[in-house]
Amino acid sequence: MTKISTQLSAVQQRIHDACLAAGRAPAAVKLLAVSKTFDTDAVQAAFAAGQTLFGENYIQEAVEKITGLRHLPLEWHCIGPIQSNKTRLVAGHFDWVHTVDRLKVAERLSEQRPADLAPLQVCIQVNVDGGATKSGVAPADALALAQAVAKLPRLQLRGIMCIPEPAPDFAAACEVFKRAGDLFEALRAQGLALDTLSMGMSADLEAAIASGSTLVRVGSAIFGTRHAKPVGH
Ligand SMILES: *Cc1c(COP(=O)(O)O)cnc(C)c1O
Repeated sequence: MTKISTQLSAVQQRIHDACLAAGRAPAAVKLLAVSKTFDTDAVQAAFAAGQTLFGENYIQEAVEKITGLRHLPLEWHCIGPIQSNKTRLVAGHFDWVHTVDRLKVAERLSEQRPADLAPLQVCIQVNVDGGATKSGVAPADALALAQAVAKLPRLQLRGIMCIPEPAPDFAAACEVFKRAGDLFEALRAQGLALDTLSMGMSADLEAAIASGSTLVRVGSAIFGTRHAKPVGH
């Protein structure tokens, strides 16, 4: 086994154990492998070990990898901030976007989604822990944004995503993730057909799963320590 396949198995085991500890079915949580800063060989090693969902933050870097690996049946998720001038690249290459936090960006993604591709699957990024400088819509504004995004023709709204600050312990992490879980349920109660609560990373996936996450985004625990952003970023 390669190092990546060994680490991938360990993460799958953590997800499995966390689901059982939370009384949830292991199949209820998907694993998104975050391959930012790692090359296509790393992505191929994870794919060879059975991984098909990959997440990327830096648009230009991602487009190169997506294009280079077009022959593989991979699903690509954009999890980085999206400037308006990058929406066309995102709409043309990714299957999913987790980081919609403004209607303007959502409208551009819908307009620019190529007709021959399936609708772009989107999550609204919510700033659950209230950091003033962080991206994400305020929880109080999430319903209005979700209702507007759900009407856009070339997008399919799937859920919400959050990136809370690292918490000091498990209970504190759960407390913040539970706010996202409660918001997710409140949006569903308003009639939005959502199935994706994107939260949890290498350090806190257990707390996220205990709080209802349906998709964890894991980078370093699979691919190793990230040393630098790629050249050109
Ligand atoms: C980098 C990143 C991850 C993965 O983080 P790790 O700590 O390496 O697991 C998850 N989500 C987002 C939005 C990221 O930018």
